[in-house]
Amino acid sequence: MQRLLSTALIHRGQQQLLNLFLSGQCPLCQRSTPRLLCPSCDRQVQQCQSTTAIDLSQPGLAVVSWGHYENGLRQAIGRLKYSGNTDIAQYLGTELGQTWLDQRRRLRPSSRPIAIVPIPLHPTKLQQRGFNQADLLARWFCRLTQLPLYRYGLARVQATQAQHSLGRTARQQNLAQAFAVDPDQVKALQHKTVWLLDDIFTTGATAQSAAQTLRRSGLSVGGICTVARAQAWATVSGQPAQPGSHP
Ligand SMILES: [Zn+2]
Repeated sequence: MQRLLSTALIHRGQQQLLNLFLSGQCPLCQRSTPRLLCPSCDRQVQQCQSTTAIDLSQPGLAVVSWGHYENGLRQAIGRLKYSGNTDIAQYLGTELGQTWLDQRRRLRPSSRPIAIVPIPLHPTKLQQRGFNQADLLARWFCRLTQLPLYRYGLARVQATQAQHSLGRTARQQNLAQAFAVDPDQVKALQHKTVWLLDDIFTTGATAQSAAQTLRRSGLSVGGICTVARAQAWATVSGQPAQPGSHP
């Protein structure tokens, strides 16, 4: 039994199985709770919610975020990604979905139908982690919003260095060839407006690189939905960007 258990622990992909045994425990503090998060952790995560969900300061890309990357939300995302507490994706993906539903009228969406594409992980990283957190978040987001999910809309074809270790120009070079679109996906996403989805928005370099890759294939990109935003919100002022426009 012990050997069985240790094998399960080695494989992150099997973490979900372990979580079944631990159900009823808050994934952030391990207190027992009938809900996904205990009331105390729930409050700490909710305190990170932003009152300004939309940022239109990125060129050609609207950014919709649920909260600030700090304190409880930072801890929750960390547990999701690095401890394999995939249940947290349900909580955060649903919160982000609700933000979308609340804000969608302000985004001036084009008349085209919307398609959700999660930011992919490089296959090596996916294998290490056992799941792509953006994909899990997108599933819950789409369950609530009823928007169609295109899990393989983008592929990550080049492993990139951790962005936080690089300067601005190096970040852009690091990401320039990071993504690709399969011809079948181009066909599926034609005549739609793609909205990307990721866990954290930092400088926008990853989102811009992903959007450029899609646009080079003739696809339309509206913006990106992220659970957390790591930098200060730009004040929404003046003329909003035009989601759905080509470069
Ligand atoms: Zn808790």
